[in-house]
Amino acid sequence: MLKEVDVLVVGGGINGCGIANLAAQAGLSVLLVERGDLAGQTSSRSSKLVHGGLRYLETREFRLVREALAEREVLLSLAPHIVHPLTFVLPHNPSLRPAWMIRAGLMLYDHLGRRESLAPSRRLNLGRHPFGEPLKSGFGRGFSYTDCWADDARLVVLNALQASEYGASICTRTQMTAAERGRDDWCVTLERQGKAPTTIRCRVVINAAGPWAGEIAALAMGLASPVPLRLVKGSHIVVPRLYAGEQAYILQLDDSRIVFVLPYGAYNLIGTTDVDFSGDARTVSADAAEIAYLCTAVNGYFKRRLTPEDVVWSYAGVRSLYDDGTVEAARVTRDYHLKYDAAAAPLLSVYGGKLTTYRRLALSALRLLSQRFDLPLPPDAPPKLPGGVLPTADMASYMADLTRRLSFIPAADLVEMAGRHGSRCELLLAGVSSRSDLGLAFGAGLYQREAEFLRSEEWATEAEDVLWRRTKCGLRMSAAQREQFTNWWNAAV
Ligand SMILES: Cc1cc2nc3c(=O)[nH]c(=O)nc-3n(C[C@H](O)[C@H](O)[C@H](O)COP(=O)(O)OP(=O)(O)OC[C@H]3O[C@@H](n4cnc5c(N)ncnc54)[C@H](O)[C@@H]3O)c2cc1C
Repeated sequence: MLKEVDVLVVGGGINGCGIANLAAQAGLSVLLVERGDLAGQTSSRSSKLVHGGLRYLETREFRLVREALAEREVLLSLAPHIVHPLTFVLPHNPSLRPAWMIRAGLMLYDHLGRRESLAPSRRLNLGRHPFGEPLKSGFGRGFSYTDCWADDARLVVLNALQASEYGASICTRTQMTAAERGRDDWCVTLERQGKAPTTIRCRVVINAAGPWAGEIAALAMGLASPVPLRLVKGSHIVVPRLYAGEQAYILQLDDSRIVFVLPYGAYNLIGTTDVDFSGDARTVSADAAEIAYLCTAVNGYFKRRLTPEDVVWSYAGVRSLYDDGTVEAARVTRDYHLKYDAAAAPLLSVYGGKLTTYRRLALSALRLLSQRFDLPLPPDAPPKLPGGVLPTADMASYMADLTRRLSFIPAADLVEMAGRHGSRCELLLAGVSSRSDLGLAFGAGLYQREAEFLRSEEWATEAEDVLWRRTKCGLRMSAAQREQFTNWWNAAV
């Protein structure tokens, strides 16, 4: 580990990795520490949408929506392997919002941010359109619009990878436990799992600890209690497919919230709730009341009846929101807030934010850091994320090319690998000339070869890093397969 750096980033979620990436690209020496796994907390527990946030128009957050809408096209281009367009169907419920209001909101959504490849919104006759087929009768009118979805955990890892390509050190399972602030620099104590504490010096500390940002700010500034943050829990459930087709649904509820029903391979991902939270965010899980709430929301719209027994997996995350004084959890701003304290050696704290706007947040952080360092202007065209430079015109033709070249590997498995690694498949599969070169097959398309690649190239240290974050194969594996993989992984360490 480096002993002296320009910037220490605390937190390996999307915001920490995004800032570390841009700081390293700007030529700063960067060390990122994450006490668990990359994306181990909020950043792998999102709804996975790269979206403008249609409902933020109601709270008049036009700057946030404009910025987020524009980021959709940017991220599609930077990471075409893990970011994809997604068509949303909005069944109209006249008792909640009048159709003219939705139409006006969608027109604004179409025009507020840069939109090049994404389709504009449309009116739909759900009585006739196939998108209406899974819905209960009575939803005659509806709308469609396009946003994007992303593999959230992989977006984090790709930023960490790119940061390390530009020279940053990424240390997982390493916690910042103490910080002494000097006039010009910091002396910070770091504890790596199972190792003796070490100290390092840095010029700036970036506090990107998500729900723990209040604690880190207090630790760094010597405060007796954490800086207060608004913590809001959100839960998701995963159920077997409710319908065929790759469209998503956005359901309006009579408590003025919305719930998304998203295609998720052979499943649907349904979320989210908004519940004020206090306690240890590391142990959150979806509770029975939230699961029942999500089932009821779906049952108000879909013909297929959902019960809690249908749920095959659930997860919860905690949003750390900038407290704007709003009473209702669902209405607290999702915008980010950066606090730059340069009273002595600088501390930059990140509060709030969205997966979608991580890059914009990182660019704003860099502008603040230019008060301390002489930094170049960011390039007009940012470099694509690792795996995003494709040898063919698009992902579809790259997948076709891979399956042709490596026809001895099941095509579905190759398509999944390409969806995770993009053109880094060339590295992952270099020299593979027969099925046996992939080693053990653990199920759900996970092979020994990829697991070893994730360990050597992507900081995977525990079996669950591979099963639930670098890949989502854990979802499609049986309990016995997961156990077999875990035993193999632990024995191979
Ligand atoms: C339910 C839910 C749904 C969401 N859906 C969407 C969506 O669809 N689209 C969207 O754009 N956004 C969405 N978001 C928001 C988005 O997920 C978050 O804004 C984002 O993940 C926050 O990232 P972060 O890096 O700030 O925090 P985190 O991902 O929580 O990362 C902080 C990290 O800091 C580490 N850490 C803490 N203390 C220390 C320490 N002392 N030393 C070292 N490391 C430490 C933690 O282990 C953690 O990994 C959603 C959020 C939630 C909760």
